[in-house]
Amino acid sequence: MSRAVAGPEIERLIQLLARLPGLGPRSARRAALHLIKKREALMAPLTAALQTAMEQIVVCKTCGNIDTRDPCTVCIDPRRDPSIIVVVADVADLWALERAQAINARYHVLGGTLSPLDGVGPGDLAIDPLISRAHDDAVKEVVLALNATVDGQTTAHYITDLLQNADVKVTRLAHGVPVGGELDYLDEGTLSAALRQRTLF
Ligand code: ZN
Repeated sequence: MSRAVAGPEIERLIQLLARLPGLGPRSARRAALHLIKKREALMAPLTAALQTAMEQIVVCKTCGNIDTRDPCTVCIDPRRDPSIIVVVADVADLWALERAQAINARYHVLGGTLSPLDGVGPGDLAIDPLISRAHDDAVKEVVLALNATVDGQTTAHYITDLLQNADVKVTRLAHGVPVGGELDYLDEGTLSAALRQRTLF
């Protein structure tokens, strides 16, 4: 047991920060100290932002995104193409795709991927609402932006089967050489997927 360097209030702040992803005990201690030093400039606005988030955050009933309004900012944005729905497993994936600014579409968050080993079945995911959305006349394409893992691909196949009667094109992300990647370092699965999905130069 290491000796406490501060009272229980500060120790508690450190312990809570240490539960954040990417922060271990040492970086949590550093973050806590930084917050304490910047009480006015950082801790006060952070406290207010956390409080606001705590009170106002809702899950969009249409797409499953997290926002302070329902329908969410993405769903009500008139500049987005309503004919494309990008399907993701998690809100983090939606935010990652938005950072890339590669597609101007609407989204659908499943809330995970099918995983028989972990007991995650179709009923645990927002698959039924996706199928109803895909039957809307305005929707022409469903992009399955799911992880290139066994669970991700199982989920993609499952959804593709269910979408057979919907009048939509079902596409998925290409698998291949990452930008900046060197062929020599890639695994065989990635290399063969990249070769199979080669495109015209
Ligand atoms: Zn939404």
